[in-house]
Amino acid sequence: MSEAQAVMTGNVTTVLIDEERLQARIRELGHEITSDYAERDLVLLCLLKGGIYFTSDLSRSIDLPITLEFVRARSYAGTESTGEVKLSWIDGLDISNRDVLIVEDIVDTGLTLVEIWKALEAQNPATLDICTLLYKEKHLAQPFPLRYIGFTIEDVFVVGYGLDLEEQYRNLPHIAVFHPDDADRDEPTGLLNPP
Ligand code: 5GP
Repeated sequence: MSEAQAVMTGNVTTVLIDEERLQARIRELGHEITSDYAERDLVLLCLLKGGIYFTSDLSRSIDLPITLEFVRARSYAGTESTGEVKLSWIDGLDISNRDVLIVEDIVDTGLTLVEIWKALEAQNPATLDICTLLYKEKHLAQPFPLRYIGFTIEDVFVVGYGLDLEEQYRNLPHIAVFHPDDADRDEPTGLLNPP
């Protein structure tokens, strides 16, 4: 659904992080990862589906040989977390003694990461770290080592750049706040740490 279609259905999105700012920050993260993982055996593990665009752009900003892997994680129904995380692994994931960087679209409750972390740790990677594009600070259920954070945002429901609402909006080139039925729309900035 395009933004124009969203407006026609009464649902509205407002831009929170525009494409230029998003891409500039991803390039910065890529440079940081390039220097941190020089001489290492880096496996970028993309969390599907939301991490698809972030992983794609981030990986092209990393000037190192890397391996790309994927895992599907589901915990949301509509705009609410179900509290239960379902993981579907791509067969043949080999991370033993390798440097694994989990690439996530957004950390909200942190439940998805806890489940993934446990499953990956059991496979004895050399190192295990997390790179998330967005971080909803107030929601984190337990302290978790987030090595790279793109942007910290308020507790708003966001869509675009891989993030969906019932499979719509993923292909917006920016991050937007979703306003159901255009209700209560007082233009939140939503962004807590402009870099
Ligand atoms: P957590 O397990 O940290 O609560 O949630 C992680 C997953 O929930 C994310 O990978 C994402 O798929 C989904 N999620 C959390 N917050 C949002 C949000 O604001 N918008 C969208 N579209 N998905 C979200």
